[in-house]
Amino acid sequence: MSIAHATRTAAATAAAEARPPVVEARRLTLVYQTPDAPVTALSDIDLTIRKGDFVSLIGPSGCGKTTLMRVIADLERPTGGTVTVNGGTPEQARLDRSYGYVFQAPALYPWRSIERNVMLPLEIMGMSKAERQARAKRYLDLVGLSGFARKFPWQLSGGMQQRASIARAMSFEPELLLMDEPFGALDEITRDKLNLHLLRLWAQTGLTVVFVTHSIPEAVFLSSRVVVMSPRPGRIVEVIDSDLPRDRDLEARETPAFLEIAHRVRMALREGHSYD
Ligand code: ADP
Ligand code: MG
Repeated sequence: MSIAHATRTAAATAAAEARPPVVEARRLTLVYQTPDAPVTALSDIDLTIRKGDFVSLIGPSGCGKTTLMRVIADLERPTGGTVTVNGGTPEQARLDRSYGYVFQAPALYPWRSIERNVMLPLEIMGMSKAERQARAKRYLDLVGLSGFARKFPWQLSGGMQQRASIARAMSFEPELLLMDEPFGALDEITRDKLNLHLLRLWAQTGLTVVFVTHSIPEAVFLSSRVVVMSPRPGRIVEVIDSDLPRDRDLEARETPAFLEIAHRVRMALREGHSYD
């Protein structure tokens, strides 16, 4: 490694460590009790996610990606180890509405217009009507749905519904966005478009994203860090940092730097399976 490169890397590491941790998991373990036998969904997970990180969780089905997201969101309690969100408990983070959660399916209410779906969490928070409308407009604009506020979910394509869900998760301006395979069911062209939208949102707002995917190119394209997991028991095989520029476009996927990171992710996934 050249001295210039080593200095840059040290500087980048120092800059990264200056950002406050948003999620900190230490020896996090979660065992589900089932009628047959206990299932160890997560085992000894050590992970620090800092403000402004875009972290992808990648690994085969059943490696505990959804479980890890649900623990961060306080929808599951760990059976061992600790997890903090913004330095406090996940429960406090949930009560503070510190995160938005985008599920794999859009989960919009069919009897509410797109705009009123986006405004629902804001209503629950007791925000004024004027502020609710301003927020809905801002985030529907951001996801490219400004012309569709008055439509109902069934009048929109799957990709547009997913964008509406993202607008809803962002509308109350959480510092943390949890996205569980949000684009998994979409065609490749729509997925590319949403990847670009999401990257732009991340670059513009500096929010922290935890993103689950099965796709190596998607993980590498979006992330500042890729967390590779393996199943039985769910554990972290490797964390791969990416130094691709924040304002990358789709063509970045053909660059040597991209292909090198994708290769490392593929090798780590393979390593995670070696005992299968
Ligand atoms: P992923 O999202 O990576 O596919 P999950 O977190 O959904 O993985 O599941 C991890 C493991 O835990 C799997 O073996 C799954 O069958 C099991 N599991 C998930 N949820 C439950 C549950 N509520 N009760 C029992 N086992 C569960
Ligand atoms: Mg899952």
